[in-house]
Amino acid sequence: KGFAEISVKDINELARSSFPLCMRHLFEKLKEDHHLKHGGRMQLGLFLKGVGLKLDDALMFWKAEFSQKVSAERFDKEYAYGIRHNYGREGKRTDYTPYSCQKIILSTPGVGDHHGCPYRHFSDENLRAALSKMGVNSRAVEDVMDKVRNRHYQLACTLTFEAVHASSCDSGINHPNQYFSDSQKLLQP
Ligand code: SF4
Repeated sequence: KGFAEISVKDINELARSSFPLCMRHLFEKLKEDHHLKHGGRMQLGLFLKGVGLKLDDALMFWKAEFSQKVSAERFDKEYAYGIRHNYGREGKRTDYTPYSCQKIILSTPGVGDHHGCPYRHFSDENLRAALSKMGVNSRAVEDVMDKVRNRHYQLACTLTFEAVHASSCDSGINHPNQYFSDSQKLLQP
């Protein structure tokens, strides 16, 4: 799914403009807490791989955050392996692919986890707040909440995409990396 290469310095800007809410949330929590639990590292890490973050950049990116909380040695010992693993450089050397919406929606985040799909896993109140922070107007927020009530989480995400890009998304959202690439196509045609 990666159609281009991105570098660490672009991530902030891309997160703001083109990440779906599930990934924005993980990204913000990572910046805030300088940590993510395993499920979050997997969901965000594989997404970033999919958008074109190369392994060395991924290691740099995660280390810059985590080392504000843990020593560089501990990062290398406990976390770098998992990142290399995602890129197929450890263990069975499987080249893992980013998670689809379906997989994320069906995940079961526990206390302290930030992975999952916000349309499915956030409270109404938190979802409304997150949507307005993304710049979704109040009328569109109501349309999104209506889809959520009917458990049409991907349609809710599609409406969000349409609201923030002021453009239709006829194919609908079925993958976070598709959200990203459709967004980039609109923003950088
Ligand atoms: Fe992420 Fe998919 Fe949920 Fe959108 S519908 S927030 S892309 S998991």
